[in-house]
Formats: sequence, C-alpha cells, structure tokens
Amino acid sequence: MMDVENLGRKLVEKIESLSPMVENVARSLYEHPELGLEEVFACRKLVDILERQGFWVERGIAGMKTAFRAAKGRERPVVAFMAEYDALPEIGHGCGHNLIASVALAAGIACSEVISPEEAQVTWVVLGTPAEETIGGKIVMAEAGVFDDIDVAFIAHPGQRNSVGGASWASWPVEITFHGQASHAGANPQGGVNALDALVQAYIGIRNLRNSLDDSVRIPGVITHGGDAPNVVPDKTTARFSIRAKSSKYLEEVLIPRIRTFAEGIARATGTTLEFSHYEPLFRETLKYPQLQDIVERNWRRLGVEISRDDAGPGGGVTDVGAVTWRTPAIQIGFRIGDVRGHTREFAQATVSETGIQGALVAAKVLALSALDVVAERGIIEEMKRQLSAVQNR
Ligand SMILES: [Zn+2]
Repeated sequence: MMDVENLGRKLVEKIESLSPMVENVARSLYEHPELGLEEVFACRKLVDILERQGFWVERGIAGMKTAFRAAKGRERPVVAFMAEYDALPEIGHGCGHNLIASVALAAGIACSEVISPEEAQVTWVVLGTPAEETIGGKIVMAEAGVFDDIDVAFIAHPGQRNSVGGASWASWPVEITFHGQASHAGANPQGGVNALDALVQAYIGIRNLRNSLDDSVRIPGVITHGGDAPNVVPDKTTARFSIRAKSSKYLEEVLIPRIRTFAEGIARATGTTLEFSHYEPLFRETLKYPQLQDIVERNWRRLGVEISRDDAGPGGGVTDVGAVTWRTPAIQIGFRIGDVRGHTREFAQATVSETGIQGALVAAKVLALSALDVVAERGIIEEMKRQLSAVQNR
C-alpha cells in the first residue's frame, strides 16, 4: 500500500524546491518566444532539464521535430504531464504556454523523484506538445498513436481563475471556393459565370442556416478572395468559415453536411463548381472525466485554494487537448495568474510575475497530487477507460 499522505507531503516539498527551475523555464521561454513547430530553443531547454533528471527522451515524435516524449519507468500505468511552449505572433507568450511547460516539468520531475517508478510500478512521462495555437499539435500526436500507451494525461493552463477545467468546443473550419467563367463585365457579361454572385449567396445562406440550428453553434465567415477587377466577371472566389459547436458529433453529422449541401445547391443554381475543404483539422470538444475533476477539486482544497465547480466557462473556446480526451482519460485544469485576459501582451507579462510563478507552483502541486491519487487507486483508470470506450462507440 502506498502511504499517500506522506508521499503527498513530499511532493509538495519537492515542488517548492523546484521553484527556481519553474521561474527559469517560464522566463527563458518568455524571452525567446517561438511560433508553432519552430520551438527549437524551448524544446532543447526542456529536454536538457529532463535528461539531467534521468528521463529517457525521444525527440521528433509524431513527425514533428519539436515534439518529444520524456519517460522514467517501464510499468503501467503511464502517467503523462503535457507541456506546451509555442507563442503567438507579435505578443509572445500571451497565452502563457511558457508556464504550461514549467508546470509539466515541475510535476513530472517531482513525481519521478518522490514516487519511484520501480517501487510504485508506474511510468512518469513529460510530453512535449508543440504548435497548440496553429495546427493543434496534440491532434497530430493523437492520430500518430502517441496517447495509445498513456493511461492518464494532465495539463494546466494559466488564466484568470483556478478551476477543475472547463468545457471546450469542437471546431472544424471550412473553406469554400466557387469556380465560374471570366468575361468582360461591360462588353460580354452574358459570356461569364459570376463566381462572386455565387459566393455572396452562399455567404448569406450559410449565415441564415443559424435560424434552423442549435443555439450553440458559431458560423462566422469572411470572404478571402472576391475577384480581381470590377470590370471582369470573377471566375474564382473563396470564403472561410470558422465552424464551431459544442459537440463534434453534431458538427460532423449535422452542421458540416448542411453547409456543404447548401453550398452545392448554390453551385448548381449559379452554374459554378464548388470546392469544399477544411483548412484546419477537426478539433474535438474536451470530454469530461468526473473522477479526475473530483480528484483535482479535492487537491485544490487540500492546498487551501477554494475553487468553483461551475466549470461551464465562457462558450466557444477550442483546444487541442480535446483530441487527447478522446484517446485517453485526461484533464486540463486552469490556474490563476491575475486579472488580465489571454492573448495580450499584459498576459505574457503576468506569466513571469510573482503571482504567475506562484500560480504555476500551486498548479504543479495539484497535478502531482492528483497523479498520486490516480496511481494509488488504480480502479479509477479502468473506470474512466470504460467511460471513454462507451463514448467512442456512441
Ligand atoms: Zn493556450
């Protein structure tokens, strides 16, 4: 039997002692922000630290050179802490992924030192997941099977409040292109097929689909190419729509087919031809695991932090963590680093503030204590996996 109380105390102490590392990682990534799939500095920095701590590291997994898997141990269950480290153009670490990396390292290192992989029969993994903001690196990793041998995965995202993690939406952006026939709009309009007229009708019609859809859909769009010159009948026009809904099933089975059928109808009516594609992958909604939420909530309280279980969160957010939750039990918690909102320069500054670093340390403690609980009560993993396969087969 594991002495959970005692191991928990040691985890908390160990993470306290990692405070300089947490700050150093947060600050150096803050000072060297890198865009998705270009996180060479960040990846090397994290891998160096993990190798010094005795982790065995595989780089370039899932075909992405800045993705990695660092592991200690050979037994099941395999428990992963996910790091992110990509920044945003212009505003650097305005989404705080530098702190996500700090938390994952602190939790992974503390667990691997306090809870021996051999004695506890567990494998501790720190997973380097690049390009969250762009291609959704975890979607690529999920498709490449990276999560198939991971039994539970944790991640902590900075924000305005401490939480057990909220819902995120499903998203599958669409690009539609109409091909017509160019002609002189003044001298020979009858010789053309106007691709812009088709696109404008499609734009209005797709927006109007909302009148007969669930309230919880978002279908904003823009025309990205509307023609070249007013005196030429446009022969090619393109629009992009950011399509979001609460459930990926609804997206796949109802919303996307409705939009597609509608656009095809416009093409037939206008004599144009339609190209229909997705310019980003399907981001699935985050599945909730109540068992993980209960454990996390208990550990926030244990650390003296009151949280609200009202985890509905603001609607419309999307994350590639959703893809992970469809492969293996996983949870993304939120931790507070101040009042500023994400995707701003002020938020980037908050990640290296005293409150930011303290927030990251508490989040690392919550994740490490929760991992300990999952490892100590093994039945939970089986229970969550049964829940997952029921959803997968729905
Ligand atoms: Zn983010």
